[in-house]
Amino acid sequence: MPRPISATIHLDAMAHNLSRARACAPGAKVWAVVKANAYGHGLERGLRGFAAADGLALIETENALLLRELGWQGPVMLLEGIFEAADAPLLARHGITSAVHCIEQIEILERANLQQPVDCFLKMNTGMNRLGFKPETYRAAYERLRAIPAVRNIGLMTHFANADELAHPRVTITEQIERFQRGADGIPGERSLCNSGGVLLRQRLSGALADDWVRPGIMLYGGTPGGMTAAEHGLLPAMTLASEIIGVQELQAGDCVGYGSHFTAERPMRVGVVACGYADGYPRHAPHGTPILVDGVRTTLAGRVSMDMLAVDLTPVPQARIGSQVTLWGRGLPIDDVAHAAGTIGYELMCAVAPRVRMAEA
Ligand code: PLP
Repeated sequence: MPRPISATIHLDAMAHNLSRARACAPGAKVWAVVKANAYGHGLERGLRGFAAADGLALIETENALLLRELGWQGPVMLLEGIFEAADAPLLARHGITSAVHCIEQIEILERANLQQPVDCFLKMNTGMNRLGFKPETYRAAYERLRAIPAVRNIGLMTHFANADELAHPRVTITEQIERFQRGADGIPGERSLCNSGGVLLRQRLSGALADDWVRPGIMLYGGTPGGMTAAEHGLLPAMTLASEIIGVQELQAGDCVGYGSHFTAERPMRVGVVACGYADGYPRHAPHGTPILVDGVRTTLAGRVSMDMLAVDLTPVPQARIGSQVTLWGRGLPIDDVAHAAGTIGYELMCAVAPRVRMAEA
């Protein structure tokens, strides 16, 4: 009998969320972001769930090539561009688009002497200070890239630091849009700015944004970048992490649960022991009060998460017993709720599901 923990991937929800992104950004083409193994859902499932996307975007050349092997013929973009010179001919041969964020990457393309055309997206750093050319050096970078004979189309892109929060106290999305527009003024090429936050807030940005390509990630998996709920945007969870109760303990007032004895019963109560621990990807730092569903009823984590197990308060589910169904996140329990309670983000939870957790599709 396999250990009763599994992650079910809802391909229909992925397709639905993609259509939500399209509805938020009418007229824009969609790069579905499938980096990090499709945010933990599996690259091949990402390919199938987002089969209707205009393009797929990820990080590693080998995974871009894998998408080609799996039959994806549409655009593929490497969001961080080329890591080594040997990759340049592969990109050209397989029609893979590359972000270009620094002079060193332009130099690689200059030296590559490519025989086939390659498409690029030139990245501008508009305030996140992660990757990209500053607005004042952007035009020169564009000219230098443009001068490479094999470079065919050059798109223009930037990335938002705080797209989930319109009034961020330090770097706002509107400031970044303005810097981008100034830095890219008069430069031809398709524009790509919005991640999920930008897509979801798009209507409130009152037409300031007119990108040709949006690049949503988290919303396609049914999560949000924060400060909003999946439900208000009609997003459906793409992953349900489920397990079962494998043990039940009857506690007296004063009894403690788990390593460190961090949870103390204040009255007689029952706790269920669930086959899910931090080695499955559940956050060890999740505190008491983190929501969990048992037989569809919302209850809470009790005590420290251990490697293979965690405990749950069965007070609201008196009928629960060994074999009762447990949902850690997904259908019926938004991953954002769990992430918020655990002081993290849905992205991290999705990406951290361990290889030992069986994944199946629904
Ligand atoms: N574009 C780029 C360049 C990214 O690095 C990411 C992810 O961090 C995304 C788009 C998608 O972001 P999100 O998952 O917040 O939609």
